[in-house]
Amino acid sequence: MKILVCVKQVPDTSGKVAVNPDGTLDRASMQTIINPDDLNAMEAALQLKDETGCKVVAVTMGPPPAEGMLRELQAMGADEAVLVSAREFGGSDTYATSQIIAAALHRIGVEDDDIVICGRQAIDGDTAQVGPQIAEKLNLPQVTYVAEMHKDGNTITCKRMLEDGYMTIKVKTPCLLTCIKELNEPRYMSVSRIVDSYSMPLTVLDYEALKDEPLIDPTTIGLKGSPTNILVSFTPPQKGAGVMLEGAGEETCAKLANTLVDKHII
Ligand SMILES: Cc1cc2nc3c(=O)[nH]c(=O)nc-3n(C[C@H](O)[C@H](O)[C@H](O)COP(=O)(O)OP(=O)(O)OC[C@H]3O[C@@H](n4cnc5c(N)ncnc54)[C@H](O)[C@@H]3O)c2cc1C
Repeated sequence: MKILVCVKQVPDTSGKVAVNPDGTLDRASMQTIINPDDLNAMEAALQLKDETGCKVVAVTMGPPPAEGMLRELQAMGADEAVLVSAREFGGSDTYATSQIIAAALHRIGVEDDDIVICGRQAIDGDTAQVGPQIAEKLNLPQVTYVAEMHKDGNTITCKRMLEDGYMTIKVKTPCLLTCIKELNEPRYMSVSRIVDSYSMPLTVLDYEALKDEPLIDPTTIGLKGSPTNILVSFTPPQKGAGVMLEGAGEETCAKLANTLVDKHII
């Protein structure tokens, strides 16, 4: 049994977000971090490893410097790492990204008792599409928004978060789960593993390595194979400061009503 964890390196949007003149993110000038939900995905995999002794493989699609992130994940506890990286993959939208990651997972091999875990959402693209798309392309059952999970044999019982409550779903392996931060508290890297991580197995899957995979086709990967086109991109104007209404209940309600009438809202 192995757990394949899909992890994305993202710009640290808690700092200054730099935007190019054409409206795209200036990724080169920004610090990168591990996508937060993906740390929960890795922690879930490592907890299963602690329980069962299974193998954990971290998989990312990104430029060559993403190797540093993979080494951090190995220092957390991942046994192997796979970097999916090629010029041909650049400019991919979510459809093409999931096509390539699904091909890489197929190449690594998703066996009967394996689990693929993704984060729910990346903090830059923010679409939450990649996990479900990978599941569709690999024909795997999927459970999204997983807030709790328990494995018993080849059945995983998941508590799935909804807008107004939770849903409990049982799914059999092989399957794909996307997880949310409520699932767990990610562990820190182990000091002893930080040095060791640089001698752990790391495989690079480039275009040459994946080109014979059925999902890899020049018309479905990269910028040309991406059905999404960004027509316009802009930074929304800053909102003005709000107005605080002071006073006791009725007095404040009257002030609020008058303000809304003055602004022709009611
Ligand atoms: C026309 C177009 C061109 C683009 N060109 C580029 C480009 O050149 N370079 C670029 O970086 N982005 C580019 N993007 C953005 C890129 O498509 C998205 O970042 C990517 O598809 C992931 O989508 P998301 O961020 O919404 O992830 P989500 O769907 O929100 O991510 C959900 C989960 O999927 C997994 N996941 C997502 N992406 C990866 C990954 N790369 N590796 C491993 N796991 C992953 C993670 O587990 C993550 O938590 C482009 C987008 C468009 C529309």
